[in-house]
Amino acid sequence: MYVCCKEHLELAIDHFVDDFEDAPDVYKLDEVHFTEWVAPENCEFCQGKPTFLVL
Ligand SMILES: [Zn+2]
Repeated sequence: MYVCCKEHLELAIDHFVDDFEDAPDVYKLDEVHFTEWVAPENCEFCQGKPTFLVL
């Protein structure tokens, strides 16, 4: 699972496909809520605010 900003969405998808050999589902962070999970403060690949959840 990757949390990333808009600029790194494609990169996160590439990483996901490399890791899992399957296409990920992409969610907007502000549209998903999980109990017992708090979104990280930063993008996985930079210090930017994350926008997307790739899983
Ligand atoms: Zn980023």
